[in-house]
Amino acid sequence: MASGRQLAMRFRAVRVHEFGAPSVLKVEDSVSLPFDQLGAKHVLIRYRAAGVNPVETYQRSGVYAALPSLPYTPGKDGGGVVESVGADVTHVKPGDRVATFGSLTGSYAQYGVSDESTVIKIPDSMSFEQGASVGIPYTTAYRALFVKGAGAAGKTVLVHGASGGVGTAAVQLARLRGMTVLGTASTSEGRDLVTRLGAHRVFDHSKPGYTDEIMRATDNKGVDIIVENAAHINLGADAAMVAQNGRIVVVGSRGEVSIDPRNLMRKEAMVVGVMLFAATVQELADSARDLEDIFATSNVAPVVGETFAMNDAPRAHEAVIANAKAGKIVLALD
Ligand code: NAP
Repeated sequence: MASGRQLAMRFRAVRVHEFGAPSVLKVEDSVSLPFDQLGAKHVLIRYRAAGVNPVETYQRSGVYAALPSLPYTPGKDGGGVVESVGADVTHVKPGDRVATFGSLTGSYAQYGVSDESTVIKIPDSMSFEQGASVGIPYTTAYRALFVKGAGAAGKTVLVHGASGGVGTAAVQLARLRGMTVLGTASTSEGRDLVTRLGAHRVFDHSKPGYTDEIMRATDNKGVDIIVENAAHINLGADAAMVAQNGRIVVVGSRGEVSIDPRNLMRKEAMVVGVMLFAATVQELADSARDLEDIFATSNVAPVVGETFAMNDAPRAHEAVIANAKAGKIVLALD
């Protein structure tokens, strides 16, 4: 078990003292953890990299429904090495290489604390930057495909927005589980990546008429499951593309949209939302263990698109909400 002295350490972290533009992300050199001792199920991790997710930009700007108390250290996802563990932690031990999707103290930092249920071991073949890319993207993709989407071998899935964090994870997991995978991306680099990750067909969502191409690829039957990363643009088209008894799983949406509900009625199709933070502790722990097995036994691994230094956190935030994705945005925490 960690001692109070260990948790009294000082380290570098990105801090936010006021909500606003990316420039409010400032590196501080002598940050401490808000705990004196580790709780029984706590894991202290020396992060080497942090995953940068769109939600952290919404929170930083102050317009998200659930805002942290100021000041705070952003980030839920990290990759690093276990430093010490609480008295009741059994799954990991000091020295283990791990990823977390649930930093309790903020992962844009050299050190942080997670509950054991949100920590998974990563194989030696996986870099810390890749480990930092596991968290929210893979857990969300898993929930969208298998918990809410009822994805299974033999079904067809469209990953609408397949080139980013959630999309690349969804393509790999769907392919691994025997699904027919269609993906979209707006750049040739993104489409090449999605093809390399195992998609059977890839389309350009910036090209007029691409939804007709998708329908032709399904012999006009439509798609069993649509993992939708931009519902504010695509939900109406999805309702037209979904198959009989299909499911549209809304993962991302940045605004309102209008759809023709008759497209859902005649196919008895379903629209279902995903909110990772609404998952139960047990659901998250179950998907974490399954993902740990997948990483240990398959070639599924996160794709890092661009790595930024801690001082460049503002640029990382700009990059994560820009279009033209080809993998995950991460922060290096040396
Ligand atoms: P990301 O890495 O920034 O990727 C964004 C993806 O959206 C890219 O693949 C991008 O493709 C694609 N995209 C852009 N315009 C599109 C369009 N018109 N049609 C289809 N796709 C389009 O973000 P992420 O981490 O994967 O997250 C994706 C979305 O899900 C974000 O809105 C995020 O906030 C949300 N999210 C929600 C949850 C949840 O619990 N509900 C969890 C995680 C993420 P190109 O760049 O190739 O155009």
